[in-house]
Amino acid sequence: MATPELTIADAIREVTAAVQQAINDGYRSRAIDADDLVEVLLAIADRLDPPVPETTNEVAFPCPECGESDVDRLIWQDDEFVRCDSCGTIFSPGE
Ligand SMILES: [Zn+2]
Repeated sequence: MATPELTIADAIREVTAAVQQAINDGYRSRAIDADDLVEVLLAIADRLDPPVPETTNEVAFPCPECGESDVDRLIWQDDEFVRCDSCGTIFSPGE
Protein backbone atom coordinates (compact mmCIF):
# COMPACT_ATOMS: atom_id res chain seq x y z
CA MET A 1 0.00 0.00 0.00
CA ALA A 2 1.33 3.46 -0.87
CA THR A 3 2.35 5.52 2.14
CA PRO A 4 1.94 9.33 2.13
CA GLU A 5 5.73 9.61 1.99
CA LEU A 6 5.88 7.37 -1.07
CA THR A 7 3.08 9.32 -2.76
CA ILE A 8 4.92 12.60 -2.19
CA ALA A 9 8.23 11.13 -3.34
CA ASP A 10 6.58 9.79 -6.51
CA ALA A 11 4.99 13.18 -7.26
CA ILE A 12 8.37 14.89 -6.90
CA ARG A 13 10.04 12.23 -9.08
CA GLU A 14 7.41 12.58 -11.81
CA VAL A 15 7.63 16.37 -11.91
CA THR A 16 11.43 16.24 -11.81
CA ALA A 17 11.49 13.78 -14.70
CA ALA A 18 9.16 16.06 -16.70
CA VAL A 19 11.41 19.07 -16.03
CA GLN A 20 14.52 17.11 -17.00
CA GLN A 21 12.83 15.98 -20.19
CA ALA A 22 11.88 19.59 -21.01
CA ILE A 23 15.50 20.67 -20.46
CA ASN A 24 16.81 17.82 -22.63
CA ASP A 25 14.33 18.67 -25.37
CA GLY A 26 15.37 22.31 -25.27
CA TYR A 27 11.96 23.61 -24.13
CA ARG A 28 13.30 24.81 -20.82
CA SER A 29 16.45 26.72 -19.88
CA ARG A 30 18.98 25.26 -17.43
CA ALA A 31 19.01 28.62 -15.64
CA ILE A 32 15.91 28.62 -13.45
CA ASP A 33 14.31 31.72 -12.04
CA ALA A 34 11.64 32.31 -9.41
CA ASP A 35 8.82 31.71 -11.91
CA ASP A 36 10.24 28.28 -12.78
CA LEU A 37 10.48 27.36 -9.11
CA VAL A 38 6.87 28.39 -8.46
CA GLU A 39 5.74 26.41 -11.50
CA VAL A 40 7.53 23.26 -10.36
CA LEU A 41 6.21 23.50 -6.80
CA LEU A 42 2.66 24.02 -8.04
CA ALA A 43 3.03 21.05 -10.40
CA ILE A 44 3.99 18.85 -7.44
CA ALA A 45 1.05 20.18 -5.38
CA ASP A 46 -1.34 19.49 -8.28
CA ARG A 47 -0.16 15.88 -8.48
CA LEU A 48 -0.69 15.35 -4.77
CA ASP A 49 -4.04 17.18 -4.70
CA PRO A 50 -5.49 17.35 -8.23
CA PRO A 51 -7.52 20.52 -8.93
CA VAL A 52 -10.18 18.33 -10.53
CA PRO A 53 -10.95 15.57 -8.02
CA GLU A 54 -10.92 12.04 -9.29
CA THR A 55 -14.50 10.86 -9.43
CA THR A 56 -13.81 7.16 -9.43
CA ASN A 57 -14.73 5.28 -6.30
CA GLU A 58 -13.72 1.92 -7.71
CA VAL A 59 -11.15 -0.51 -6.43
CA ALA A 60 -8.44 -2.13 -8.55
CA PHE A 61 -9.69 -5.63 -7.75
CA PRO A 62 -13.49 -5.95 -7.92
CA CYS A 63 -15.41 -8.88 -6.45
CA PRO A 64 -14.62 -11.98 -8.56
CA GLU A 65 -18.16 -13.32 -8.03
CA CYS A 66 -20.44 -10.38 -8.81
CA GLY A 67 -18.04 -7.70 -10.06
CA GLU A 68 -18.76 -5.25 -7.24
CA SER A 69 -16.09 -2.54 -7.35
CA ASP A 70 -17.44 0.15 -5.00
CA VAL A 71 -14.81 0.69 -2.31
CA ASP A 72 -17.56 1.23 0.28
CA ARG A 73 -19.04 -2.21 -0.36
CA LEU A 74 -15.81 -4.20 -0.20
CA ILE A 75 -14.82 -4.59 3.44
CA TRP A 76 -11.37 -5.69 4.59
CA GLN A 77 -11.62 -8.66 6.99
CA ASP A 78 -7.93 -8.80 7.84
CA ASP A 79 -4.65 -8.12 6.04
CA GLU A 80 -5.48 -10.53 3.23
CA PHE A 81 -9.22 -10.96 2.68
CA VAL A 82 -12.05 -8.68 1.58
CA ARG A 83 -15.76 -9.42 1.98
CA CYS A 84 -18.13 -8.25 -0.74
CA ASP A 85 -21.21 -6.60 0.79
CA SER A 86 -23.23 -7.25 -2.35
CA CYS A 87 -22.96 -11.04 -2.55
CA GLY A 88 -21.08 -12.09 0.59
CA THR A 89 -18.08 -13.52 -1.22
CA ILE A 90 -14.80 -13.36 0.67
CA PHE A 91 -11.77 -13.08 -1.57
CA SER A 92 -8.12 -12.10 -1.61
CA PRO A 93 -7.64 -9.06 -3.91
CA GLY A 94 -4.99 -9.46 -6.55
CA GLU A 95 -4.94 -13.28 -6.63
ZN1 LIG B 1 -19.69 -9.77 -4.83
